[in-house]
Amino acid sequence: MSKLTITIDGPAGSGKSSVARRVAALLGYSYLDSGAMYRALALKALERKVALDDQARIEALAKETHIALKPPTPDLEAAGAKNRVFLDGKEVTREIRTAEVAQAASQLATVAAVRRVLVAEQQRAGAGGSVVMEGRDIGTVVFPNAELKIFLDASPEVRAERRWKEHQEKGDRMTVAEVFDEVIERDKRDRERKVSPLIRAADAVLVDNSAMGIEETARLIVLLASERQKEATASAGKKV
Ligand code: C5P
Repeated sequence: MSKLTITIDGPAGSGKSSVARRVAALLGYSYLDSGAMYRALALKALERKVALDDQARIEALAKETHIALKPPTPDLEAAGAKNRVFLDGKEVTREIRTAEVAQAASQLATVAAVRRVLVAEQQRAGAGGSVVMEGRDIGTVVFPNAELKIFLDASPEVRAERRWKEHQEKGDRMTVAEVFDEVIERDKRDRERKVSPLIRAADAVLVDNSAMGIEETARLIVLLASERQKEATASAGKKV
């Protein structure tokens, strides 16, 4: 069996994380949340009061920072955590999940030098295959040769409502309108930035899951993965 690399890109609230985790669990693959790396670096910048538009200091911060992603413990998993996230050895899994950190992450993510550092880390982390990695530029920049690329999308209203529910579950008192504005502002920045903008790779399968649940979306991707497995096995057979 070949070890596929599966990339899932898409805007905030498109269901990437839940779907990617479920796909990884169904296939026995590892799951990597690249956005957590941008969030962890953003948390450090906020804590140290480094101006997010000070490119030289932000770049230096990225180079001196160590970020590690690990699988969640069962209780964190039940609470909706994705990967466990360690910033310079300290766990920040919960701290990075605020709207403030999300906004700061999307500002940092416009800096080319920051992306170079984090992309190299992501490539190292996913190098062995049998991995589902989610983000904004995984199919276009991090793993342009991935065997299966998905671009996951949903309507802005559905995405904002999903994010709002997540905030509610954590006890954050944001209104749906506030979450809608946060999601739309971040998407605009992610889509319009010069370096590695959020775009669908030419060979990515577009899946709009506005009217689909996590399980249904994950099973569809697993079906696509098994097709790609067969194709990979057939073409390996022809070469022998
Ligand atoms: O996926 P998540 O919402 O946690 O990502 C937070 C922010 O990090 C995004 O809004 C985006 O600006 C940035 N990001 C990115 N490239 C990735 C993953 C996340 O630019 N591969």
